[in-house]
Amino acid sequence: MAVNTPPRLGFEYAPAPEATDHFQLAGVYKLFLDGEFVAPASEQHLATINPATEETLAEVSVANEADVDRAVKAARKAFATWSKLPGSTRARYLFRISRIIQERARELAIVESMDGGKPIKESRDVDIPIAAAHFHYYAGWADKLEWAFPNRKASPIGVAGQIIPWNFPLLMLAWKIAPALACGNTVVLKPARTTPLTALLFAQICQQAELPPGVVNIVTGISSTGAAMVAHPDIDKIAFTGSTDVGKYIMRTTAGTRKRLTLELGGKSANIVFDDAPLDQAVEGIINGIFFNQGHVCCAGSRLLVQESIAAPFLDKLRARMARLRVGNPLDKNTDIGAINSADQLQTIKEYVESGITEGAEIFQPPCELPKRGFWFPPTVFSNVSQSHRIAREEIFGPVLSTLTFRTPEEAVAKANNTPYGLAAGIWTDKGSQILWMAQHLNAGVVWANTYNRFDPTSPFGGYKESGFGREGGWHGLHPYLELH
Ligand code: NAP
Ligand code: MG
Repeated sequence: MAVNTPPRLGFEYAPAPEATDHFQLAGVYKLFLDGEFVAPASEQHLATINPATEETLAEVSVANEADVDRAVKAARKAFATWSKLPGSTRARYLFRISRIIQERARELAIVESMDGGKPIKESRDVDIPIAAAHFHYYAGWADKLEWAFPNRKASPIGVAGQIIPWNFPLLMLAWKIAPALACGNTVVLKPARTTPLTALLFAQICQQAELPPGVVNIVTGISSTGAAMVAHPDIDKIAFTGSTDVGKYIMRTTAGTRKRLTLELGGKSANIVFDDAPLDQAVEGIINGIFFNQGHVCCAGSRLLVQESIAAPFLDKLRARMARLRVGNPLDKNTDIGAINSADQLQTIKEYVESGITEGAEIFQPPCELPKRGFWFPPTVFSNVSQSHRIAREEIFGPVLSTLTFRTPEEAVAKANNTPYGLAAGIWTDKGSQILWMAQHLNAGVVWANTYNRFDPTSPFGGYKESGFGREGGWHGLHPYLELH
């Protein structure tokens, strides 16, 4: 198939960067243990950089085993009183946290974009508001646990160890901390190495909300910090979001112990377009599905399955739309695609794209000028992809879409389910019956119809197969944090 480069628009947007002079980052951040910022026993620090500029933003502490132990002891001590508080009192703290997140939303959004590279319009309109909404939502459950599980007694499980990734730092923190606290547990949370800053601002918010000391403890660090949490004998539950490889390691390590476990791992989700779909709307959904957050999304619609009869015109529309995407400064309000989170992740993406070319797929990248410094990758779509290609099977976690075609709904289902993962799927069609039939046959935790990447605190999220187990969000999200008698 010949690939024509669509013409560029004849005008440019003026730069519209967010100001960063209305807040001050600390030069060095300590650990947040027992309600205070304290120096790490390890005496080690690491720099977190802005991936758009490669400049150091701050130094954060590296927690070692002794630091993790201090955090767990603080959480255990706090559990004795926090778990006994009336639900309505716990709710009050969660509402307060939600309100402070809203009040500090601008600062949080800017720091999130600077530390991780995501466009400000996403951190401002998606990450931070939904993080606040999670606290608000689970505050509502805190005094209703008695009614959530009729004829059963629900009690908290104890100290939760929570390990989160770098793609939605504050949002993943909220997904984990809000239900844990609502149910009466206390937590030790480890943010990812490359994006620790909003978790440290959240620690300040806990102080501002006068949350009792030890209920939330934040241990920044590296993978060995997470491993120390997984191995700690006094942690009752591990909640992990991240790569399938680390998830498997955690599952092996916790097997045979009393630790409870939930895993939210990777995905290779199919976004399926039928010939009766409203094509322009579907193009927007495909774009959103794969280029939102540079494709650093566990449920990214990274496999486009398009019905053969419309494949050629659909890809033409898609390429034309891709040529309009603006790649660049994450703090610019008109940016669609920001910086790749780290040099390592950029390298991974480049290797996958090389493999796609070597294995015979056809690549399209619109002409786009990438900044000189920082980590960048242009929006990329592959056509002529076969199911055996690595780019069709493995999670790339970048702005790279692989296109496959199908003729019948049965073939679409077979191809969509032909993956070790099972996190999400999207269906684009005019027919309600087609949506219901497809949703019944797809092995995916979330199925979106004529939309994609819609998140809401009331809606459960989680996977099948190697995408993990356990649900976060909604009533389902209470289960991992409760013992039911
Ligand atoms: P990762 O290594 O799984 O990191 C996720 C979290 O686990 C981070 O906080 C990480 O800490 C921590 N961690 C790493 N090794 C650990 C260990 N042995 N024990 C306990 N905790 C450990 O993911 P990544 O390397 O950042 O990303 C690699 C791939 O994971 C991506 O390409 C993508 O495919 C996938 N991923 C999926 C999601 C998702 O939402 N499902 C999110 C991120 C990444 P450090 O950051 O300090 O190493
Ligand atoms: Mg960073």
